[in-house]
Amino acid sequence: MLVTFCGVRGSTPAPGARFARYGGNTSCVAVSHSAGAHDAPPVLLLDAGTGLANVTGLLGGEPFAGTLLLTHLHWDHSLGLPFFRAGDRDDARVTLLMPDQEDGTGAEELLSGVMSPPFFPITPAELRGDWRFGMISPGQFKAEGFTIEAREIPHKGGRTFGYRVSDGRSTVAYITDHCPTAYGPGPDGLGEYHPDAVALAEGADLLVHDAQLLAGELPAEAAFGHAAAEYAVRLAIRAGARRLALFHHKPSRTDAELDDVARRFAAAEIPVTVAAEGMTIEL
Ligand SMILES: [Zn+2]
Ligand SMILES: [Zn+2]
Repeated sequence: MLVTFCGVRGSTPAPGARFARYGGNTSCVAVSHSAGAHDAPPVLLLDAGTGLANVTGLLGGEPFAGTLLLTHLHWDHSLGLPFFRAGDRDDARVTLLMPDQEDGTGAEELLSGVMSPPFFPITPAELRGDWRFGMISPGQFKAEGFTIEAREIPHKGGRTFGYRVSDGRSTVAYITDHCPTAYGPGPDGLGEYHPDAVALAEGADLLVHDAQLLAGELPAEAAFGHAAAEYAVRLAIRAGARRLALFHHKPSRTDAELDDVARRFAAAEIPVTVAAEGMTIEL
């Protein structure tokens, strides 16, 4: 499969020259089936941050036909929805799935909370094409030729899932917006290496993981619901993942600072990549 980073920022977009190389759009990852060809269209999208607009460019003028999986509904994972031109056209087919809610609120109704007047001119129902909205529970399901496992991940303010996506040959684990310190300090103060995180990442060819913070920032900022890059590296190694992409960068983290992060982990036991907008990893 091909994994393309369409938006790698957390929290809010980061425009400007100091963020140009890693990119300023918020979370969105496109997954395609691949037989070695780099032009296979993406059929599975993970999150709908402002990076979702970049998926249109991957489709070469074609409509999107596939599934859009949200980890949760925070702005940096949902506000790209109305700007997805390849999905907002009469010939598009989009199945949008999100974690089910304890109070039973439906998917379309939930999304309308941020996407409807007076906050925005249109509602989800007004997107053009064949849009279906649904909820998922933790467990396994199939979509677009992938087997997907969903598990609940501690974050802050809203139910959040991590996903493990496999095509039968390779596997990518996507754990963004993860607050492992919510379960305690763990063995090294970075948070618990809890069973759900380990199971999602176990033996994955690629782990894409929250790296909003650095270890030194945890005391002041862990309460916002994110992990440190150092935790992501240790989780990947513990779980036997073969490669790690640090993702969901802090909006204030400049290109130069992200270069420093890359250097810091250059000698890690497994390859550690600092995800950048436009980067494709073939598994
Ligand atoms: Zn986020
Ligand atoms: Zn979040």
